[in-house]
Amino acid sequence: MPPSESDLEHPAFARIPPWVQQKLSAKAVETIKKVHHWMETEVIPAEPILKAQISQPEKRWKTPPIMKELREKAKKEGLFNLFLPKSFGDLSPGLTNLEYSCCAEIMGKVYWGAMTMNCHAPDTGNMELMAKYCNEEQKEKWLMPVLRGEKFSAYSMTEPDRATSDATNINCRITRDPKDPNWLVINGRKFYGNCIWGEDLGFYILMACSDPENPNPWKRHTTVIVPKDTPGLKMVRNLTVMGYDWAPEGHGEYLYTNARIPAENIILGEGRAFEIAQGRLGPGRIHHCMRLLGQTERAYELALIRATDQRKKPRGKLIGEFDSNIERLASMRLQLDSMRLVVMNAADTMDLKGNKAGRYAIAQSKILVPQACADIIDECMQMHGGAGVTQLYPLPEMWTYARFVRLADGPDAAHRHQVGRDELKKAGKVKEQHDAYQRRYKELCQKWGVDEETFL
Ligand SMILES: Cc1cc2nc3c(=O)[nH]c(=O)nc-3n(C[C@H](O)[C@H](O)[C@H](O)COP(=O)(O)OP(=O)(O)OC[C@H]3O[C@@H](n4cnc5c(N)ncnc54)[C@H](O)[C@@H]3O)c2cc1C
Repeated sequence: MPPSESDLEHPAFARIPPWVQQKLSAKAVETIKKVHHWMETEVIPAEPILKAQISQPEKRWKTPPIMKELREKAKKEGLFNLFLPKSFGDLSPGLTNLEYSCCAEIMGKVYWGAMTMNCHAPDTGNMELMAKYCNEEQKEKWLMPVLRGEKFSAYSMTEPDRATSDATNINCRITRDPKDPNWLVINGRKFYGNCIWGEDLGFYILMACSDPENPNPWKRHTTVIVPKDTPGLKMVRNLTVMGYDWAPEGHGEYLYTNARIPAENIILGEGRAFEIAQGRLGPGRIHHCMRLLGQTERAYELALIRATDQRKKPRGKLIGEFDSNIERLASMRLQLDSMRLVVMNAADTMDLKGNKAGRYAIAQSKILVPQACADIIDECMQMHGGAGVTQLYPLPEMWTYARFVRLADGPDAAHRHQVGRDELKKAGKVKEQHDAYQRRYKELCQKWGVDEETFL
């Protein structure tokens, strides 16, 4: 039964298009309202508190107390792990990808909002991966503590010395220990993946090369679980992103020097990393886009406030009274609403036709959303004048988030490349269709006595 009119009057549904509203289950309607209430009352007002807690140097890499408290509370209120799609059976809270996209946009209003509900990257993608490919013992040991919110996980694929957007280039090596084949030895350098200093980080899901001579490049790599306290694993440094250290999660650079892990930590089997990487490219891949919409809506709200701020009147007019700004606001609104359609279409395609069929729609979102959100947030900063680029507003951090999503989970250029190549494969069919128009045109010329050379 579609949601009632009174349900839909709730502000949580204000931006959800009617075709999506009609598809929402009663459970989804309740959950969306709860997520909205959670963000409005517990998360958005708490932004300065979390900032204050992590700004104390000795606490910078600890999970802030307010985050711990909120995670406990969210769990009790049934707001944990909302992202796990229905296909995950008992593990899933039962939302479709489309329904979850409505929740994710709302939680995206604050960068760390998703973490209060255990719906943050990279753990969402990792949990999906583990639920899909780990054996029962591995699930119990590694997945369950993350699902319960006791531990965080990291994903380690990128390398500083290789073009990792083409993952066949991954060069970090895994070999069997010649003295004891029940153990694996890892050597190499990795880039990104949460900072090892994070006190609640448990392990890295690492993709590395185990069979470099295999004639099939898609079978050369293996995915393993590396506990963060593994001897031989050393963090070289924490990487800043546009100058931010992104504490307490951070982004590390890592050196593996004869790091040993048990062979039972192999996920799915040796040489099967690409099967896993393909599987990881499901819903988790557009969660950032869903949340970025919420983040950008928030920047837009700030721009609306600024545009009508009575204290700010260049040339005696409100900022929102200049035609150029009125048009800017209209164009931002239009862009936001159209991006939402693209993201929701990707989620719906995955629900109706599966993740593989959703690949193109996911790529569309990944190409369109981060760049357009960065542009919108940039305009919102501009409308704030000098203050907009300072810590007095969350706008610089919002912009940084949009900017880095152009790279995280694969650069937009690689998605464009893939989409462009797929498009070119259609050229032959399109040409046949156009040749058919020409043949028919010539028949019509004969019938109607028109000289065919006139228009060809
Ligand atoms: C904030 C942040 C968090 C991240 N988190 C993680 C993480 O948790 N784990 C992890 O493993 N990685 C993570 N990454 C890394 C990210 O996934 C990679 O940086 C990204 O996939 C690109 O790989 P690369 O850096 O090796 O770039 P390269 O592969 O060297 O590519 C460099 C550039 O070449 C161009 N290019 C590449 N391919 C094509 C193509 N097909 N067509 C046209 N141009 C192309 C693009 O401009 C691209 O940006 C994170 C990155 C950021 C910024």
